[in-house]
Amino acid sequence: DGGPLVHIPDDVTIPQFLFDQHHPLGGEALHSRSPTYFVDDATGRQINGEEIRARVFGLANALHIRWAIGNGDVVCIFGPNSVDYPTVIWATHRLGGIFTGANPAYTVDELVYQIQTSKATVLFIHPDCLKVGLEAARKAGIRDDRIALFDAVPGNPHVTIGELVKEGLTQPRRYVEPQLRPGEGKTKVALLLFSSGTTGRPKAVMIPHFAVIANCIQMKQCTDMRDADMPNDQKLYSVGDVGLGVLPFYHIYGFVVSLHFFLFCGMSLVIVSKFNFENMLKSIQRYKITHLTLVPPMVVLLCKHPAVKNYDLGSVKLMACGAAPVSAEITRQVAQVLKNSWIAQGYGMTEIGSISRFFPEADNRVGTMGSAGRLIPGAACRILKADGTWGGYNETGHLIITAPSIAIGYLDNPEATAETFKDGWIYTGDEGYVNEKKEIFILDRIKELIKVRGFQVAPAELEGHLLDHADIADVCVVGAPDDFSGELPFAFVVLHDNVRQRVSKSPVDEERLRQDILKHVSDHKTQYKWLAGVEFVDAVPKNASGKLLRRFARDRLKEGLKDG
Ligand code: AMP
Repeated sequence: DGGPLVHIPDDVTIPQFLFDQHHPLGGEALHSRSPTYFVDDATGRQINGEEIRARVFGLANALHIRWAIGNGDVVCIFGPNSVDYPTVIWATHRLGGIFTGANPAYTVDELVYQIQTSKATVLFIHPDCLKVGLEAARKAGIRDDRIALFDAVPGNPHVTIGELVKEGLTQPRRYVEPQLRPGEGKTKVALLLFSSGTTGRPKAVMIPHFAVIANCIQMKQCTDMRDADMPNDQKLYSVGDVGLGVLPFYHIYGFVVSLHFFLFCGMSLVIVSKFNFENMLKSIQRYKITHLTLVPPMVVLLCKHPAVKNYDLGSVKLMACGAAPVSAEITRQVAQVLKNSWIAQGYGMTEIGSISRFFPEADNRVGTMGSAGRLIPGAACRILKADGTWGGYNETGHLIITAPSIAIGYLDNPEATAETFKDGWIYTGDEGYVNEKKEIFILDRIKELIKVRGFQVAPAELEGHLLDHADIADVCVVGAPDDFSGELPFAFVVLHDNVRQRVSKSPVDEERLRQDILKHVSDHKTQYKWLAGVEFVDAVPKNASGKLLRRFARDRLKEGLKDG
């Protein structure tokens, strides 16, 4: 395990922990010395704690007065990061409500699925995704008068966050903020983020307030221990440091690490709504960013993009990478690019939060090559070997993890919950080992999940969709390795007999059908789920109970790569 942990409050919500409490390790205790919470990347506008508190109060008051939002009500945000994104989250929490965030690149069907699965009854839409948002709201049954916009759109009648805040601020407080009983923080759901877990379609993961609070404290305790012996200029996190909030807040990594952990450390966050690599370089220089939290493709760009040499990145003192594996070679290269920076890695999962981090020592700027970091305090890991026995240090097997930051389970899905959540332990679906230094090494993914640029793609979702295609009898989707994205979805397709006979006679017809299948996916799914390729096969192997044996498809892909 990662060692003992300090006390974690279990009777407060996330905004109470961040704004109302004086926790000895961080939060208000540190932020009172560094007033800027957020900086809007595009405009440079700075927002301090007082303004955030007022906006959160105003919005909460209006949400209560207008829509009677209260305990257990689910509020969905459909949009990119913005300075008001957290305002909506924390106002919802102040009312006892639950936040769910959808990827702004989603198609109508994908958003409808999230709204219906999470049972959201209010939708906040960013102007950039208005058309999809409005259509999905209509299809999912969200009432038109329960839609709000991040900003006004000419000709559109929906209320904006700014108007709601004003409305709430000009009225006396009408809501009573729910106070949690001791221990209730562990069962009170704060957010529903989507993950497919080890198998099947995406599911709503119930993450309680306590999990997020615990994760902030775990990481802070870990860095404080490391920083204790360091001279001031070598400490990893200092009050007034500036983080780049480029990772989306609707994913656990951006939500916990960039948004909540950075604020808990007394840092400011530059909020970026859309990732654009050159803009990121400009922002690092303009705002003297000290902390970068990235996913592997962004790190690859830092190593390879010709524009990097035109910018001064000397302010960066910590670059952390997670959400998918990053190679030792890229780690070495990025250490050359970010000459003043520690290079850190972390391993996490929607269902468990962040449970290992690598915090570099003075004499070792990049850590142990290939490791996804050391277990943090409060986290523990077991290795389940292929023969069904528990493994020791350096033995490979299924990583089984526990931590105070784990989720409660999947909403309305007891079967999937029972498969992944067992007696307080999470069966991660990842294969790896832990060495004597408590460093984790991830070797392979044994679950069905495909990760494209850090985003989850559930094979079962694409397979279900492909089976709707009139010509397809059976299908198996797996991840094909890709240098930039990590993986890309690839489909092995079995055609109905009559179709197969027809196209096998004509390469032109076969190619036309392949293009049609690719389009069937690209017309209905967001871009990172698009297929990189389709191969026609006679059958996809299954076991006696009908479960797909995906190993065949992965082996076939490897053979294909070898053959060129
Ligand atoms: P998500 O729930 O979207 O965060 O996805 C979690 C999964 O991403 C994990 O179960 C791993 O398969 C993968 N993952 C996350 N961090 C790493 C890492 N540092 N190295 C390798 N795989 C990772």
